[in-house]
Amino acid sequence: MSSIQKSDYLVIGSGVAGLSYALKVAEHGKVNLISKRSASESNTSYAQGGIAAVTKDTDNTRKHIDDTIIAGAGLCHVDAVEFALNEAKERIDELIQWGVHFTKKDDGAYDLAKEGGHSEHRILHAADMTGAEIQRALLESARANPNITIFENHLAIDLITEHHVLGNLQSAFNICFGAYVLNESDQCVTPFQSNYTIIATGGASKVFLHSTNPEIATGDGVSMAYRAGVRIANMEFVQFHPTSLYNPGKRSFLISEALRGFGGKLINGGNEHFMPKYDKRADLAPRDIVARGIDAEMKKRREDCVYLDMRHLDGKEVMSRFPNIFKHCKESLNIDISKDPIPVVPAAHYFCGGIMTSLTGQTSMQNLFAIGEAAHTGLHGANRLASNSLIEGLAFSHHAAMKVINKRPRNFGSVIIPEWDESGIIDEKEWVLTRHNQKEIQNIMWNYVGIVRSKKHLKRARRRIHVIHQEIEGYYKKSKISGELVELRNLATIAFLIITSALRRNESRGLHFMTDFPDKSEKYLKDTII
Ligand SMILES: Cc1cc2nc3c(=O)[nH]c(=O)nc-3n(C[C@H](O)[C@H](O)[C@H](O)COP(=O)(O)OP(=O)(O)OC[C@H]3O[C@@H](n4cnc5c(N)ncnc54)[C@H](O)[C@@H]3O)c2cc1C
Repeated sequence: MSSIQKSDYLVIGSGVAGLSYALKVAEHGKVNLISKRSASESNTSYAQGGIAAVTKDTDNTRKHIDDTIIAGAGLCHVDAVEFALNEAKERIDELIQWGVHFTKKDDGAYDLAKEGGHSEHRILHAADMTGAEIQRALLESARANPNITIFENHLAIDLITEHHVLGNLQSAFNICFGAYVLNESDQCVTPFQSNYTIIATGGASKVFLHSTNPEIATGDGVSMAYRAGVRIANMEFVQFHPTSLYNPGKRSFLISEALRGFGGKLINGGNEHFMPKYDKRADLAPRDIVARGIDAEMKKRREDCVYLDMRHLDGKEVMSRFPNIFKHCKESLNIDISKDPIPVVPAAHYFCGGIMTSLTGQTSMQNLFAIGEAAHTGLHGANRLASNSLIEGLAFSHHAAMKVINKRPRNFGSVIIPEWDESGIIDEKEWVLTRHNQKEIQNIMWNYVGIVRSKKHLKRARRRIHVIHQEIEGYYKKSKISGELVELRNLATIAFLIITSALRRNESRGLHFMTDFPDKSEKYLKDTII
């Protein structure tokens, strides 16, 4: 057992949200930042399209706010939208100071792209690898900061709350003291104690069979918070990206919406440009509408994918604007995107719901904050507007940082954090069976809780997930801890949270589409809170 790690601030996660928060609070105290793989592995690293902010005179923030609220289908918290987007330009300026290079035009002005649901060209980008550029710059700054210690291959298992320290406390209630963390290199669990803990663990799209996300997206932060009794909101609103490369058996790869913004058109196997049938905004309609259009087209024509057609555009421009996508398609499928239609399918992409927070990232538990994709701030409502998540991570991490640096920490000096109970029996045979549960969860979620849902399918999914959940919990209680087991347990929890939330919403709104309740209902004009 390793000895306890103490810091003023504990940050769980090294994406845009966790890193930008760490850089700010590091000016006021010691920061321990943990990341379950290498610190550069995050959803942030894979973001392609860009980051939305009003940076030119002919645009204005009101329009960005209105576009966000329209996409959110009645559930955006207007205060959160205004709070975040009014300061978007300041956050972009900070990114530039931290060393992020956005693509510029020949005249030196930023090259602003347009994506679905945006009324203006306002997406700053670094070619088609915006997230990688942001991750690089923030991580370099964090590594250079003497107040930040980065613990890679360290996986947070559970939050430390008053339940763990009971007996040492006279009057503590609903307080977070840090987290138990598994060092994947030596398999030891260490308590990380801190005045303030922030969850910045990103999304949970790996709960679905097809996902655009890397392996880290297993919803650990949301599951940990749920187990600790923290409030969770709107888990039914999962965004399916309409266009992930169709390449069965291979890791999914996103075909950015920016290609449609650039003029790309979706066609079916019969060469028909079909999106105008579904929405007057055609290929640039909000993502939920495009994903459902593709889903309907695939089902109707019994085809495994549709195609994104760039052939009518200037081939040289396509190659220079999308070098990463060009290279990936060439290498993986031998497709030249300027000459061949690109096969695409929808895939789980983004979680609008998560840990409920105030405008400053405060959760329903004292000393526990949440930011980024793991949080539900109210910005996205029932559907996220394209390129609004990187800016959300920056906006709310800024305000969470301002909040904690201005707080006086309560003195829990006498608290004794118990060590992790490492006893456990390993039953290899049972583990082999339990491990299969991951694929089963992903299949159930894809088939019954995906783009188009119904009460009957959701109930079927609930029954099956319940059995799997119990099996995993049973195994968890008698096993030595491992990263794989923690993630599997968390995926089962996420599946349960999505299904439970979806069953409570008897309407279709934004990303949640029910065939038996195809319309919006005033009765459900509120968040689903668990
Ligand atoms: C392919 C793709 C393209 C995208 N394109 C765009 C885009 O163009 N514009 C846009 O705005 N958004 C885009 N998004 C969404 C956006 O990238 C994410 O929502 C955002 O980066 C999330 O940032 P984050 O800091 O909250 O989480 P992440 O960047 O996912 O970081 C989470 C971190 O937490 C760590 N972690 C997780 N669990 C644990 C644990 N238990 N213990 C320790 N560490 C843990 C992870 O290892 C990771 O370091 C895209 C997403 C994907 C997948």
